[in-house]
Amino acid sequence: MAIVQSLLVLGLVIVTLAFALPAFIRIYAMVNVGSAEPLTHTWKERLASVMRYVFGQQKVLEDRPYGFMHFFYLYGFLILGIGHLELVLFGLTRFVEALGYTPFLYRNLPMMPTSLLHAYEFSQDCMAACVVAVVSIALYKRISGGVARLMPRSADAERILVLIGLLYVTFFVFIGSETLERMQSGELPHHWLWHLPVSSALALAFGDISHGTVAGANMVGFFMHLGVFLGFACYIPYSKHLHLVCAGPNIYCRHFDAVAKPRSIDFEKSEKFGVDRVHELSWKALLDTFACTECGRCDAVCPAHLTGKSLKPKKVLHDIKMNLRYENWAGQKEFRDALGRVAKGKDDVEKAYVPKTPLVAREPISQNDKEKVLPNGAYNIEGQVHLDDLWACTTCAACVEACPVLIDSVPTSLMEMRRNLVMMEADGYPKELNAAFRGLEQKANPWGVSQDRRMEWAESLDVPLLADQGEREVEYLFWVGCAGATDERAKKIQQALVRVLKAANVDFAVMGCEEKCTGDPARRMGHEYLYDQLAKENVQALNTYQAAKKFKKIFATCPHCFNQLKNEYKDFGGHYTVQHHTELLSELLKDKRIPLATKAALKETITFHDPCYLGRYNEVYQAPRQALATLPGVSVVEMTMNQKKSFCCGAGGGRMFMEEHIGKRINLERTDQAIKTGAATVATGCPFCMTMMSDGVKDRGADETMRVKDLAEVIAERLV
Ligand code: SF4
Ligand code: SF4
Repeated sequence: MAIVQSLLVLGLVIVTLAFALPAFIRIYAMVNVGSAEPLTHTWKERLASVMRYVFGQQKVLEDRPYGFMHFFYLYGFLILGIGHLELVLFGLTRFVEALGYTPFLYRNLPMMPTSLLHAYEFSQDCMAACVVAVVSIALYKRISGGVARLMPRSADAERILVLIGLLYVTFFVFIGSETLERMQSGELPHHWLWHLPVSSALALAFGDISHGTVAGANMVGFFMHLGVFLGFACYIPYSKHLHLVCAGPNIYCRHFDAVAKPRSIDFEKSEKFGVDRVHELSWKALLDTFACTECGRCDAVCPAHLTGKSLKPKKVLHDIKMNLRYENWAGQKEFRDALGRVAKGKDDVEKAYVPKTPLVAREPISQNDKEKVLPNGAYNIEGQVHLDDLWACTTCAACVEACPVLIDSVPTSLMEMRRNLVMMEADGYPKELNAAFRGLEQKANPWGVSQDRRMEWAESLDVPLLADQGEREVEYLFWVGCAGATDERAKKIQQALVRVLKAANVDFAVMGCEEKCTGDPARRMGHEYLYDQLAKENVQALNTYQAAKKFKKIFATCPHCFNQLKNEYKDFGGHYTVQHHTELLSELLKDKRIPLATKAALKETITFHDPCYLGRYNEVYQAPRQALATLPGVSVVEMTMNQKKSFCCGAGGGRMFMEEHIGKRINLERTDQAIKTGAATVATGCPFCMTMMSDGVKDRGADETMRVKDLAEVIAERLV
């Protein structure tokens, strides 16, 4: 019997390897067909991330109690994995009993200390019981529909939970009967054992059963437990549980920017721009899709999804993964060849393999098309991203912040698809963007206001020009931005800021008519060519001044300009020390350089709206709050969604220049959140947020009770 058992185990292990290994190899090949993207940072920093986010579960635990439940899955898998190894090795070596030897078991190892053995048995027993309990709760939650972000119900997810549960129920059949056998043989005392708390209790409960029946139950328990374990291994590459294998590598290969930067295009070398076939995405974006746990935390915070659009970041990843499936490639034989070609050079692969199905579904689908729109609003197009979803993204990065396995590719992948539509197809994008593109192309301003009018906002304010400063090096170059120079409301912010800066004796100058749009809206709207031109021209102008020592630092009032100057211009050779004006104002207040009227202070309750490109993109959360906290008469109240969990105003990702036709307007949702605080003022630090929130307040008829101000204006009102 021992020999038969070993042969059966060997057969099962071979079948499992034959089934699972090719599936994992195909996944490796699928990730590798992605386009090139270099890894940054050292292996030590990457390993530190793995320790923090995989073993420390830092992001997973942000969502309690579900994070806590996941903690048991992970550590259950790791701790019980030691037992699974023993199970397989025991089965494979059982045949040696026929030769008079003892098969592999940890307790049979010479020199195995009893204390270590007891610790091992205790950890297995307790962890298996905890996992069974946690899985039962999770299954109940999923089936009862109690967690919105996990809806609609997923057969895959429920199957996995059942498999995990079965794995540890069969564990107790196996170990419980084994414990009883050991008690009956006198190897273990016939009473409850602390190191086998559950198994020994089960053994005692079934203590009257004959030895033969117990041996039979043990053999059945062994094969059931092994069968579920090996079956699970075969199912993993086809299920969402693939994250078990891919999340660790994905975190190791993570981007280290707060939010991943879009990839630049070398327009001199490239013939095709943007992405319309899945292999044109970077390999890291493809790895993301296999690392996704389908937890839905991203959907639960996406402003587009929460206001009734069909965009769901989780579904975007799922569709990319479905599009990547090998059935979509020219043929299985060619795909198998991909492995060999990947080893030789990526170009070869890219030329040889073109997936059949485009990544973007181009046909317009009406919301009334019942067959294609699911009850939850998502489009039922498997393996393709719909145009509506593509253009609904505000690039707010809330999904990036929420993801427990550091998936950050949704906004950048969508942007790359936009590029293809705008630059290659000249179709499939909202036509209202043409006006902004024209303005940027002809006047370097998305509103089409010519450059010679860029100083109109500063008339009668005596704002110094950098070009007029002679040999002098000014402390700050004030980057005004297109909105600040041309939008009527935003001009008032700049004027208030200049009053504050002058009162604080800050040495600054502006570039005036030399300044051009940073190109951020063009980049986010998919016109990378336009962005590339504007970025290069601005960097050239800035570098010339920098080389001539005309300024030390830069500050910007627009977080989109701030993000460009600080982060994205680095890819074009622009390296500057950049602050947002809220950071500068906070510093000036801290140093008591701003003369404030303290007597009869203006009383005001203020809630601060975090602009996404200031907060999530640059992690500036405290500076504006610290500034507000130092102002006489000001008391601050927070919206429920604040700081890194803040809710977009709806203007990012070029949405400022697009109509919002589907669902509730995002700015209205954010305005409602602000109104709920009862604050008299919403303060912000972004001209786009200013427009969106002001429109929202007006739309809600709340302009009598609520004002929208920039931080600079709140301070200017309190100047002596
Ligand atoms: S970036 Fe923002 S809008 Fe876009 S998918 Fe993520 S959460 Fe949604
Ligand atoms: S992308 Fe991240 S947050 Fe969204 S479902 Fe996947 S794992 Fe969860």
